[in-house]
Amino acid sequence: MNWIEKYIEILQCPYCRGDLYLDKDKNKLICKKCGKVYDIIDGIPILLRY
Ligand SMILES: [Zn+2]
Repeated sequence: MNWIEKYIEILQCPYCRGDLYLDKDKNKLICKKCGKVYDIIDGIPILLRY
């Protein structure tokens, strides 16, 4: 288990504060609420507004 899976519950979407889930196939985090997709680069989720 990598750290993202361990801490997924405390990560939240920077736009809407919604919960995120990990798409392991695409290696991305996706917001359950607004559907925004965040890349994971070298194991670090990029949770930035841009
Ligand atoms: Zn969101």
